[in-house]
Amino acid sequence: MSDQKNKPSIAIAVAVGKNSEIGKNNQLLWHMPADLKYFKQTTSGHTVVMGRKTFDSVGRPLPNRRNIVITRDASLKIDGVEVVNSLNEALNITQSEEKPVFIIGGAEIYHQALPKTNMLYLTTIHETFDADTFFPVINRNEWDTVSSETHLADEKNKYDYTFEVLKRK
Ligand code: NDP
Repeated sequence: MSDQKNKPSIAIAVAVGKNSEIGKNNQLLWHMPADLKYFKQTTSGHTVVMGRKTFDSVGRPLPNRRNIVITRDASLKIDGVEVVNSLNEALNITQSEEKPVFIIGGAEIYHQALPKTNMLYLTTIHETFDADTFFPVINRNEWDTVSSETHLADEKNKYDYTFEVLKRK
């Protein structure tokens, strides 16, 4: 599409359980160091865009990344973070970036961003969890699999997990 020319591509990074669950009580559902490492490798040097609740859950700006937080609170200020009042505003202020801009959650922001997203960095944790927040169900027919890597649980990572990179067809 011509109006997409010269705009950065939009990527989502997310880790889901078998039922697309992503969080509960504003926390993650698992401790998986391998996924944290993968997330860091994937997003370092990029802009990360997140909802205010996800920022609260992380508790600090992510190092080596431009951090953008979306809130409806027009007066919110956070050190080390650019605060905006909509997803569109976040995308507008990153328009000149050459590298993909990563949407990193949570559910509210993923729902709004998914239709605009061209790349999905999807980690699946092969377990079900009690959760209160979920990633939208994706239609696999709309996505090509660029890569897929499955790892077995080990002493540090309690569950089997798969890293997939999906590209919108
Ligand atoms: P979000 O992180 O999506 O943040 C929601 C907040 O974003 C809203 O309350 C509002 O902030 C702001 N917001 C959302 N839409 C708009 C808009 N259109 N305009 C302006 N502001 C907007 O919250 P969720 O509760 O959906 O997700 C958090 C959960 O997701 C946590 O459990 C977290 O651990 C989990 N998570 C899981 C990930 C994973 O990969 N498994 C990754 C990231 C998060 P305000 O209230 O300030 O106005």
